Amino acid sequence: MHYQSFIPPRRILMGPGPSDVYPSVLAAQSRPAIGHLDPLFIQMMDELKALLQYAFQTENPMTLAISAPGSAGMEACFVNLVEAGEKVIVCRNGVFGGRMLENVKRLGAEAVVVDSPWGRAVEIEKVQAAIASHPDAKFLAFVHGETSTGALSDAKTLCALAKNAGMLSIVDTVTSLGGVPVKVDEWGIDAVYSGSQKCLSCVPGLSPVSFSPSAVAKIKARKTPVQSWFLDQSLVMGYWQGDGKRSYHHTAPVNSLYALHEALLQLHNEGLERSWQRHQQMHQLLAEGLHELGLHFIVPQAERLPQLNTVTIPDGVNDAAIRSQLLNDYNLEIGAGLGDFAGKAWRIGLMGYGARRENVSLCLAALKAVLSH
Ligand SMILES: *Cc1c(COP(=O)(O)O)cnc(C)c1O
Repeated sequence: MHYQSFIPPRRILMGPGPSDVYPSVLAAQSRPAIGHLDPLFIQMMDELKALLQYAFQTENPMTLAISAPGSAGMEACFVNLVEAGEKVIVCRNGVFGGRMLENVKRLGAEAVVVDSPWGRAVEIEKVQAAIASHPDAKFLAFVHGETSTGALSDAKTLCALAKNAGMLSIVDTVTSLGGVPVKVDEWGIDAVYSGSQKCLSCVPGLSPVSFSPSAVAKIKARKTPVQSWFLDQSLVMGYWQGDGKRSYHHTAPVNSLYALHEALLQLHNEGLERSWQRHQQMHQLLAEGLHELGLHFIVPQAERLPQLNTVTIPDGVNDAAIRSQLLNDYNLEIGAGLGDFAGKAWRIGLMGYGARRENVSLCLAALKAVLSH
C-alpha cells in the first residue's frame, strides 16, 4: 500500500458546522508548538480568556475553553452543576435539547421535559407552567439556537424566569455565539457553553464555557465529587487560572488554542455588533433569493436563527442527489435535515467567516442550477 498526505479539497461550508475557517486561523494553527506551561503560552491563554469574556459579554472569572468539542462543553455544564436526585427542567425543541435530557438522565437527576414543536422557539408559557408546578427544580436548561431546526429562543426571558424562581440556567450557545446577541451577564446566564466551529469560524474541537459566581458556588457546595475526572472544572481551573502557579491537568491542544485565539481576535476586531449585523444582512439576502427559487422557510420569521436557514425540500426533489451535486460540481456543502427533519429539510449555514455576500451568491446560483435540472 502506498500512502500519501491527505490534501482536502477547498470546499465552501454552508452547513450546520464546521463553518469556513478564517485563513488567518489556519495560519495561526500551523505555527510551532510550544510547551503548554511555557510562560509565553500562559500569557496567550490569559488573553484568550479575556477574548472569550468579550465574546460571551461576561466578567465571569471562570471562563475558558474545554479541550474537546461542543458536546463536551454541554457535558461539562451538566456534570459539574447537577447532582443525582436534583430536578432539572429541560426544554426540548430539537435534537440538542434531547441531548441535554440525555445528560440529565445519565447523571441520575430528575428531568422535567418541556416540549415545544420542532422548528419553533421554546414556548415561554409552557416553561412558566413547568416552573410553577416544579418550584423545587434547581435548573432550567435550554438551547438558544437549535441547529437541528434553525429556531432561535428568547434566552433573555427564559433566564429571567429561572432567576425569579431561584433556579440556575444552563444555556447552549454553540450556534448562537458570535452570530446573534449572547449577553451572559446582562441576561444572567449561569452556565453557558459554545463551540469553536460554528460562528467563531475556528477549527473544530474546542468548547468555550463560562460559569457565573452562583454556578461556581453551586459547584463548590457539591456533596459528591464530579463523576468525570477530565471535565471536573475545579481541577481544570488549576491549569487555566492557578494564579502564577499553574498545575498540569492535561496537555492543552496548543495549536488549536492558537487558532481559537486568532478566531476570537477576528471577532473582537470586527466587533460583536457588526458581526451580528452582518449575519442578519446575509440572512436577509439569502432569504430573498431562496424565496425567488420557491423554497420555503420552516421557522416563522420572528424565530429564525440568521446563521442557520432551514427550508423544506420541494416535493419530487431527490435530497441526496442535490446535495452531492452541489458538493461535486460546486464544492459547496449544505446541511441535510437532522432528526425529525431528516429527508425533509435542508439547513443552509451562514456562520462566521462563511456569512459573506459571495457565499450567498454562489449558494443561490448553484441551487438554481441544480434544481432546474
Ligand atoms: C453543533 C452543536 C452541538 C455539538 O457540538 P459538537 O462540537 O458537534 O460536539 C451542540 N449544540 C448545538 C446547538 C450545536 O449546534
